[in-house]
Amino acid sequence: MSQEADIIIIGGGAAGCSAAMQLSLRGRKVLVLERVLLGSGSTGRAAGLGAQLRESPDETRLLMKGIEVVKDIETRVKKEIFTRTGSLHVASDPERAGELRSFVKMGKEIGFEIDLVDAGFAGRLRACMRSDDLVEFCYCPTDGHLEPSELLSSYVELARAEGATFLTGSPVTDLLVEGGAVKGVSTPGGAHHAHGYAFTVHELAVGGG
Ligand SMILES: Cc1cc2nc3c(=O)[nH]c(=O)nc-3n(C[C@H](O)[C@H](O)[C@H](O)COP(=O)(O)OP(=O)(O)OC[C@H]3O[C@@H](n4cnc5c(N)ncnc54)[C@H](O)[C@@H]3O)c2cc1C
Repeated sequence: MSQEADIIIIGGGAAGCSAAMQLSLRGRKVLVLERVLLGSGSTGRAAGLGAQLRESPDETRLLMKGIEVVKDIETRVKKEIFTRTGSLHVASDPERAGELRSFVKMGKEIGFEIDLVDAGFAGRLRACMRSDDLVEFCYCPTDGHLEPSELLSSYVELARAEGATFLTGSPVTDLLVEGGAVKGVSTPGGAHHAHGYAFTVHELAVGGG
């Protein structure tokens, strides 16, 4: 059956469902079209490692913000999604050791909890780890593990509560273009029209959503 929405999102993985939640919370009427089942792509295969440290300050800040967003979602849905475990980074040669030291400097500059630790500290954290050939260690106490299925179902629950619609078994087969603008999409079950804009999750990421 044909549906109308402000925004149509193609793909019901972590990116599509998270965008659906954020847009729905901002008052947009959202329709998510998923080819198979929600989470049946990469999202259903993710290990759920929630490590925030990246090479650039901006990427690290983005991941720090991501953990904050997940904690806010946990409060809203009253579920545990993120388990804080900490993460240990190791170097076995001087070049990598230099990289770890520059990560620590960068992390501290942007307010990310990170520090160099010694072999004794690392050994107590990971008792089964051989460390006699390692030369540098750093520890990020706020990293952890995310439960991918709980995160996805929470995005969907919060988006649905704001009126979002999720259609599974609905592959998008074509874009409906009028006057040079995308106005909707085609699926085997019928056409769906967007008052605002229809985009793929990849366009959303590029567009800064
Ligand atoms: C083995 C593995 C381990 C991973 N571990 C981690 C980890 O520890 N930490 C981490 O942060 N990331 C991890 N990732 C990466 C993470 O899973 C992905 O970055 C994330 O799931 C991508 O989400 P997505 O929504 O972009 O893509 P997907 O989850 O793939 O969602 C895309 C969806 O679009 C649907 N779709 C495609 N075409 C159409 C169409 N024409 N019409 C309708 N629907 C369509 C697909 O069916 C799919 O459900 C891992 C990935 C894998 C494979």
